[in-house]
Amino acid sequence: MGKDQRNALGNSVREASSPEGAFDEAGPSPPRRGGTAAASTLGATLLIALAALGAAPRAPAPKAEAGPQRIQTTHFDVQSFLPPEDGKSYAALCERAYGRFCELLDVPQGEAVWDGKCVVMLFRTREQFVAFAAGVAGPNAAVSGGFSRPTKLNPLIALPMCGQERVRLEQLLIHEMSHVFLQLFRKEVQLPIWLHEGCAQFFEFRHHTADSRLKQSQRIVKDIVANGRARPLRQFWVTPFAATDREGYAQAWSLIHFLSQNPRTKGKIGKYVLKLKELAPERKGFVHIQSEADLKRFVQEAVEKAYALQAEAFGQVFGITVADLERDWRQFVLSNY
Ligand SMILES: [Zn+2]
Repeated sequence: MGKDQRNALGNSVREASSPEGAFDEAGPSPPRRGGTAAASTLGATLLIALAALGAAPRAPAPKAEAGPQRIQTTHFDVQSFLPPEDGKSYAALCERAYGRFCELLDVPQGEAVWDGKCVVMLFRTREQFVAFAAGVAGPNAAVSGGFSRPTKLNPLIALPMCGQERVRLEQLLIHEMSHVFLQLFRKEVQLPIWLHEGCAQFFEFRHHTADSRLKQSQRIVKDIVANGRARPLRQFWVTPFAATDREGYAQAWSLIHFLSQNPRTKGKIGKYVLKLKELAPERKGFVHIQSEADLKRFVQEAVEKAYALQAEAFGQVFGITVADLERDWRQFVLSNY
């Protein structure tokens, strides 16, 4: 179940975006701590006065939903409806994760990946999240396990922090943040799904190395490699996979794992991402599809270009061919998993 939710999240990164400005309209107002403190002091005074009069105090009126706790860090504006200690610890986690992304992608110190701060909304209940998500990002986001809106200025991540064990919720936050980070780092282009999902899972597992899903992914990959079912990269690099495709997710993770370990590719994943972004073509104008054959040719050309671009970037950055990568990766899987 956790897997589906996480994967649903991944999909929502691309699908659940909404027009700029929506967040401002639906965003909760900042907390009014002073007002609350004053009210409770007044309440206590009233209780004492009532007790002195021998009157039974009436049950307090139901509390209106309090505003979020806001925690500003260097890169994040965390707005949390969780207990204050949890809010603080998630805010600290955001910064730690940010540091790990910078490390993997070799982001120069002081470079801003996004403008302003990334707003992280952490909801205590699913209902709270759904109400917010439906208003800000529409029905798709409301049924998701969380969503993000990777806009260059003040990107947004919104998550229901409930229904799973703590470490899984932390991984959920890291997974979603990985998508935002990768998307916004320098030029914004559509990066391949395997790269996005591979990196997001890589960071999840790094955060919780005892995660049973890590061993499970290793078993899946070892099995597909041993049985000749691993997808050829010519196909895998250009074909999106479904949220329920466990072999697809496992292979994506394993490729990133291999690239992070192999002496020839280690420390260069960020350079690869940047090269992909640099080589990515500007969006083309309108293409007039007039027949079934036009459509087929158009799709085929797009797929071939997408593969050629990745292979080109790969060769330039790592100095090895895709065929070498496939061979070395299989060997790595068979001897390490
Ligand atoms: Zn994802």
